[in-house]
Amino acid sequence: MIKELDVIPSEVKDTSRRPEWLRVKLPTGRTFREVADIIRDHKLNTVCGEARCPNMGECWGNGTATFMILGDVCTRSCGFCAIKTGRPVQGLDWDEPNRVANAAKLMNLKHVVITSVNRDERKDGGAPIFAETLKRLREEIEGVTIEVLIPDFRGVWEALQIVIDAKPEVLNHNLETVPSLYRIVRPQAKYHRSLELLRRCKDQGLRTKTGIMVGLGETKEEVYQLMDDVVKAGVDVLTIGQYMQPTKMHLPVKEWVHPDVFAEYKRIGEAKGIDHVESGPLVRSSYHAERHL
Ligand code: SF4
Repeated sequence: MIKELDVIPSEVKDTSRRPEWLRVKLPTGRTFREVADIIRDHKLNTVCGEARCPNMGECWGNGTATFMILGDVCTRSCGFCAIKTGRPVQGLDWDEPNRVANAAKLMNLKHVVITSVNRDERKDGGAPIFAETLKRLREEIEGVTIEVLIPDFRGVWEALQIVIDAKPEVLNHNLETVPSLYRIVRPQAKYHRSLELLRRCKDQGLRTKTGIMVGLGETKEEVYQLMDDVVKAGVDVLTIGQYMQPTKMHLPVKEWVHPDVFAEYKRIGEAKGIDHVESGPLVRSSYHAERHL
């Protein structure tokens, strides 16, 4: 029987100061600067910068980044996310896939992670740009493997099918949090719609992945229930990381979850049947993504 958490001294409830396990090195170094130059020169966006990811020093210092396509304005207003919200003024940028492919080649990437903003003003949600980006990356980099971290396309399954048909090696779609918190964390999303998206991708043979943040006020029981739902949807990889408030305008951190609890989440998730659970305070859905192939 799986033993669920009952004895671990779990969370730090005083959230006014970050605990020492969340302190990270400041981004510096030659490789970091080279990555920054390539991104700027190709007029690209990364979720690393836009979402103020704490791992930029490590990832960019190792020469990797997660490209964010479809512009830098998101049509949604999630309570945790620092990306600009609004109605994008531009249509699709058909040169963006070329720039992503060229930048990835210059960065010498063998595994590329592509995500995007939501483009809910469009029926296709921008899915054709995902497909074109995969095509251009494969033309440019022999043997490249690609993970896409996609929006829910408002449940327009024809748009999702465009991405599925492009056959990414990993299809990632984040649940972000437990269903009871959707109203404040992801007000325009639906928990069961996201699960259905993951199930549809699995049914068509893709390797699937999802991620959540903890420390937003969820209970452990809710995390275990989510794991059960993830298993039922056939998801192969689950990432779990600590939520960090990007600005004072965003949802407050409710708990600093202890590293021992993250270790327990990994043990329990894998015991429940998830192939791989990456769980730790600094884990983000694209962190060490090459390990999730
Ligand atoms: S974890 Fe992901 S978003 Fe954060 S810096 Fe690394 S690649 Fe970028």
